[in-house]
Amino acid sequence: MTPPTASTARVRTRFAPSPTGALHLGNARTAILNWLFARRHGGAFVLRLEDTDTERAVAGGEEMIYEALDWLGIPPDEGPREGGPFPPYRQLARAERHRARAEELLESGKAFRSGGETAIRLRIESGPVEFTDLLKGTLAIDGDDLGDLVLVRSDGRPTYNFAVAVDDIEMEISHVIRGVGHLSNTPKQVLLYRAFGVEPPAFVHIPTVLAPGGGKLSKRRGAAGVLDYRERGFHPDAVLNYLSLLSWSSEDGEEFLSREALVERIDLDRLGAADAEVDEEKMTWLSGQHLRAEPAEQLARDWAPRLDVEGLGLDDADLRRAAEVFAKRTRLHSDVTSEVEPIYRAPETGGSAARELLSAPASETAIRLAHAAWADTAWRPEPLATALRGAMRDAGLAGRTFFPPVRVALTGQLHGPDLGEVAYALGRERTLSRLSSAMPSAPAAGGDGAGGDPI
Ligand code: GLU
Repeated sequence: MTPPTASTARVRTRFAPSPTGALHLGNARTAILNWLFARRHGGAFVLRLEDTDTERAVAGGEEMIYEALDWLGIPPDEGPREGGPFPPYRQLARAERHRARAEELLESGKAFRSGGETAIRLRIESGPVEFTDLLKGTLAIDGDDLGDLVLVRSDGRPTYNFAVAVDDIEMEISHVIRGVGHLSNTPKQVLLYRAFGVEPPAFVHIPTVLAPGGGKLSKRRGAAGVLDYRERGFHPDAVLNYLSLLSWSSEDGEEFLSREALVERIDLDRLGAADAEVDEEKMTWLSGQHLRAEPAEQLARDWAPRLDVEGLGLDDADLRRAAEVFAKRTRLHSDVTSEVEPIYRAPETGGSAARELLSAPASETAIRLAHAAWADTAWRPEPLATALRGAMRDAGLAGRTFFPPVRVALTGQLHGPDLGEVAYALGRERTLSRLSSAMPSAPAAGGDGAGGDPI
């Protein structure tokens, strides 16, 4: 969709959630498309809190919305927290504005007060109300079928459609991108634009996000709240990437897209109209891709709170090396506990079968050879792996007898990642010390193991 071309036109999108609980995936997707579209066209992304339904509002609802938007990395440009040129950004606080705009329509004769009631209603002319939706084309509804359009109730409270239209007009919203569930509200809002003599914005009613396996998103059907995916260890960029591409695909079919690439490619004309089910397998795959693409320093920071850093004696350098080599083995941040922790745990905590292996006579030879091979090797995964294989070949040993004792000496495990990577992740000092400790006849490991020649 191309942005409006009038000289005054500037892309302004808005996300207008009600603070009624955790932000679910469907609403998050609406927010994401609005954010991407605004970014794409150098416009503004506005958060307007539709908090007029005070009965359904929950305490902390606004904070939950912000927490989700911040986690997804799509903070608004204007909103209750940010401020902006069209305050206030909470709908309830705009009630005076709504009432004033209703008075305006009363004065111009576009609205009326009926009989003894004090409710203000819009005068609806018969004939078609036409509007264009980007996905559905031009739709026409007969004005007579819209019934009464109350603007302000007799108790003075503005109605939902009136508040939305007034706010969208006053906030100069150029594109209304929202769930298809709001389609029936659109003709009523279009009538209000007409009454005010304002050109309606472009409308895009996007299809519904369904739970994995179909049906409405709910707590019972997988994680419905976007922050549940944070708890489960998904990379936020993957959730952003995945939800962006629901019902839409980039021109070249590329699916793994950074947020910059998404901003560059977002094209609402390519949105499909069919409802889309959440596919967690795909989201998990994308999480792995985004995790891998992240700089090791950042990944180390993400992982630190998930690992028993103190208990395992990890420092920043350890975390960085772990991030460097284990990113490709993890798809969710939460995988680090199963993939990374076992490497650093004391080898003595491994299983008894593994420890048993160390008492085999051939084991000590293998461990000695590994220690000797690594003592002077550049501490990178590839040279470490090459040096270890070289030592094995020189000694005429087979991999199945040579590698397992070295692995057990390092991690207490019988299986795991490539030993060059394990040694690299453990670091020189820890690696050599663990090897020394696993050799019963070796001189005392002395804790550091890096200096001297214990063999
Ligand atoms: N407050 C509405 C909702 O939470 C959105 C209204 C709109 O986008 O027009 O669904």
